[in-house]
Amino acid sequence: MRYIVDHDLHIHSKISPCSRDDRQCKEAILAYGLTNRFKLVGVTDHFWDLNVDYGDAPGWLDVGEERWRSILPLPQSKECRFLFGAEVDMNRHQTTGICERTLGMMDYTLISTGHLHLKNFVTDVSKFPRTPEFVKEYYLGRLKAFLAHEEYPFERMGMTHFHSCIIGEDKLVQTLGLFSDEELEELFADAARKGVGVELNAESIPNNPEVLEAVLRPYQIAKNQGCKFYLAGDAHHPEAFRITKEMFEHWVDLLGLQESDKWPFVTEQIEKLSAGN
Ligand SMILES: [Zn+2]
Ligand SMILES: [Zn+2]
Repeated sequence: MRYIVDHDLHIHSKISPCSRDDRQCKEAILAYGLTNRFKLVGVTDHFWDLNVDYGDAPGWLDVGEERWRSILPLPQSKECRFLFGAEVDMNRHQTTGICERTLGMMDYTLISTGHLHLKNFVTDVSKFPRTPEFVKEYYLGRLKAFLAHEEYPFERMGMTHFHSCIIGEDKLVQTLGLFSDEELEELFADAARKGVGVELNAESIPNNPEVLEAVLRPYQIAKNQGCKFYLAGDAHHPEAFRITKEMFEHWVDLLGLQESDKWPFVTEQIEKLSAGN
């Protein structure tokens, strides 16, 4: 059966500093889910847990735990379950901004290892040549560092937008081309073994055929290695809600996804909705 577009697990609310849009409230997020007949939505504001030592590379401190949690309680509907999550970064010391305690506070967590545009937080600009070679090695090291956290509850953790925010689009084809098939196979086989969800981000499907081909290769390898996928609108403002479903359908077609390619975390949550819990 073809992969059913029935969820969006990556949505920012007004709490995220990159949204700060009062219209992007919890009621609007649930309404978006219901309008699109999604059975599952999740809010994932940026967050850094202050119990985690960030050294000299801080980020998202202005969100803070209190502000991040201020969206609770989330409204629920019999037709659409609404989960609480976070988009958590890894800083330039390969420290991820969550601890066990905060992991326990949320339904799931999205880990962004690739926000290389966040200067000084994620990259040290004084030692960061933005060349495809450097970016590729730097990013691959970060992805491996995330997967090396054996203590993480990977079955409820997602890896966000693999190809976004790592380098400008003019150098993206070259940068992605530097990842060998073997490196990607090893990486995604490890992700598949651990049960990490692989994100398909609605904002990041390129139009240029050459760029699209380069972008699709890692996801095709992920699929071949047995990785499971979740859908991510990554909306920061309500306008984005209008196009996400179409983009999700596009991803499903591009990768030829079946229901069996869906991240089990999504399926389990939708089953809970059907069972009325
Ligand atoms: Zn992101
Ligand atoms: Zn995001």
